[in-house]
Amino acid sequence: MKLHGIHVPHRKNTVDSTPVRMPVPAVVTVPMSMNIGAPAKPVVKAGDTVKVGQLIAEAGGFVSAPIYSGVSGKVKKIDQLLGSNGRYDTTIVIESDGQQEVYEGITPPQVTDLDSFVEAVRQSGVIGLGGAGFPTAVKLKVKPEQVEEIIINGAECEPYITSDTRTMLDDADSIIEGVRLLQKYYAPQRVIVGIEDNKPQCVQKMKEAGRDLSGYEVAALPAIYPQGGEKVLIFNTTGKIVPEGKLPIDVGAIVINCTTLAVIAKYIKTGMPLVEKVVTVDGSAVAKPQNVIVPVGTSMKDVLDFCGVKSEPKKVLYGGPMMGISVASLEAPVMKNTNAVLAFAEKEAQAPVTTACIRCGRCAAHCPLNLMPASIETAYVNNEPEVLKELKVNLCMECGCCAFGCPAHRPLVQVNKLAKAMLNQYNAQQKALLEKQKEKETKEAAANV
Ligand code: SF4
Ligand code: SF4
Repeated sequence: MKLHGIHVPHRKNTVDSTPVRMPVPAVVTVPMSMNIGAPAKPVVKAGDTVKVGQLIAEAGGFVSAPIYSGVSGKVKKIDQLLGSNGRYDTTIVIESDGQQEVYEGITPPQVTDLDSFVEAVRQSGVIGLGGAGFPTAVKLKVKPEQVEEIIINGAECEPYITSDTRTMLDDADSIIEGVRLLQKYYAPQRVIVGIEDNKPQCVQKMKEAGRDLSGYEVAALPAIYPQGGEKVLIFNTTGKIVPEGKLPIDVGAIVINCTTLAVIAKYIKTGMPLVEKVVTVDGSAVAKPQNVIVPVGTSMKDVLDFCGVKSEPKKVLYGGPMMGISVASLEAPVMKNTNAVLAFAEKEAQAPVTTACIRCGRCAAHCPLNLMPASIETAYVNNEPEVLKELKVNLCMECGCCAFGCPAHRPLVQVNKLAKAMLNQYNAQQKALLEKQKEKETKEAAANV
């Protein structure tokens, strides 16, 4: 079996840019919904003073993550503000005092066994920093005997983004410390660092850094997008296929982003939770493309002001051009899983003219999961959720390969997102109908006794 993908222009302009720390922003706005799952719940109120690393919001459930302040200062307000997803979200606004005073309660966690390790990961506030945003502690809450391979995701296959590349080059020791912890508590047969072969310096660095480890290997993978997609990476490093509706752990695999692992290792060593991010700032409107370190909650405007703009940005993305999300306002903040801010000038920002599908089949040929995007679009337009189910639209990882290769510029990813929502709504309706039917039958059976 072959997993498809596409060759995209790499545009890794910032690969040699060692991250620089931006001046502390005057204000940070910290949304509570930065992870997949339940939003965090504020534990501070307007007027409270906070310090760097201080808890400002606790996890809102099992699939959730706590949030810590990236600045010292005063909580200005807690309000419902419009988030990047177009929904209002509880947001903590903090005015920085510019002092960056560190919270006195910062101490390394006591990690003595698997449970305390997972608890430490939970307390670190870490979520999938490669962009997924899934709370990492939930992913690690598995039995060691289930784990055969742990795959460290250093693929960084999206054009432009080099923040993981910099972690591998600048902080390989933290990644390796994280590997040691994973080996200690899960004893996997193999730990594989997956890196695209267009980053030979990272392959070299990670090989050298882990040369004393056994059961550790670095896989140089073809630079074919989306090499960093979880299921794609599992297949290309282990040959295993994650079945539909199953998780990586069901085939014995765990995938962790390399920066995520480095942050976990540093938290366990120092006690400083996730409060800041390395963000790649690039795009045709940016005067000085570079990697910057910013407190979580820093506005896009502050980031772009620091790097400078050559022309007014007409399109600004969270993340890369393939899977990134366009932001409506430059006030939108850098979130925990933001790894890039891309600002484009007029020419690149213009959406291409969409024409009729010519049934060329390129979208299906490029889909890494062998889906049929043109047929999905037809089923969506015809309001056919049963057909969408047969076409397995819920497997779509929204990677954008289909749209990238479409000569008619069909908005296939957007349609797939809508089609998934249509199918999920249909499934919920079917479930409710079934439950109602069962309830009716139970009542009738009781009446007939
Ligand atoms: S966005 Fe979905 S349908 Fe399109 S190529 Fe990626 S996985 Fe396939
Ligand atoms: S690539 Fe575009 S034009 Fe070709 S079949 Fe798919 S949707 Fe139609």
